[in-house]
Amino acid sequence: MKREISGIGMTSQRTRARMIERLREQGIRDERVLAAMAVVPRHIFVEEALASRAYEDTALPLGFQQTISQPFIVARMIELLRGGRELGKTLEIGAGCGYQAAVLAQLAKEVYAVERIAQMLARARSNLRHLRLPNVRLKHADGNLGLAEAAPFDTIIVAAASARVPQALLDQLAAGGRMILPLGTAEQSLSLIERGQQGFSETRLEAVRFVPLVAGVE
Ligand code: SAH
Repeated sequence: MKREISGIGMTSQRTRARMIERLREQGIRDERVLAAMAVVPRHIFVEEALASRAYEDTALPLGFQQTISQPFIVARMIELLRGGRELGKTLEIGAGCGYQAAVLAQLAKEVYAVERIAQMLARARSNLRHLRLPNVRLKHADGNLGLAEAAPFDTIIVAAASARVPQALLDQLAAGGRMILPLGTAEQSLSLIERGQQGFSETRLEAVRFVPLVAGVE
C-alpha cells in the first residue's frame, strides 16, 4: 500500500517532506500518521491550478462549495482517532476528493468512505484509482445514516460538522470503538467519542471550522 503513482517530480517530494516537518513542529507526534502522510501525494487530489499549493498548511477549494482540509487537521484528527492503537475497520463520512481516505488506507485494515455529492465521489474515485488502494471502498450515501451494510466500525471519522452526533454513527460504532468529529454550527470543536462497556464518553477538544454535514444526497 506504500506505492505511489509514477512521475512525481522532485519538487513535490521536497515540499511534501517539508509538510511533514511542519506537522512535527505543529505538535503531531504519531510517527505512523506522519509516515502515512509522507507517502500520499496530496497534489493529485487538488485541481491542477492549485497543485503547487497542495503541501501548504491550508484548506483548498474542491468545487461544489467544499474544501480539502488543511494537512494539520487531517493529521490531528487521525492521531486522535488512533490514540496509539490500530484503526481497524474505519468509516469516513465526507470523502470529498479522497485525500483523507488515502491517508487512512495506509493505517486501517479497511476504509469505507461515504460522500453525498455524486460528482465529488466520482472525482474521489478517479483520484484514488491512481493509487491502487485495495482496502478503500467509496459509497454514494448520506453519512448521517452511517453505512449499515458494513457496520460495526472500530473507528469513525467525520469531515463535516453537525450540531449533534448522528444517532446512526453511535449505533454503528463497535464496542471499544472511537469516533472523531467536529460538533457545532457557527462555533465548532472536535469531539472524541469512545464506546466503552458502560456506554459512551465524550472528550471536547480544540476549535475547528468545517463545512456543514448536510442531509440527503445529490
Ligand atoms: N475528507 C475530505 C474533505 C471533505 S470536505 C478530503 O480529504 O478531501 C467535506 C465533505 O463532506 C464534502 O465533500 C461534503 O460533500 C461531504 N458531506 C457533507 N455532508 C455529508 C453527508 N451527510 N454525507 C456524506 N458526505 C457529506
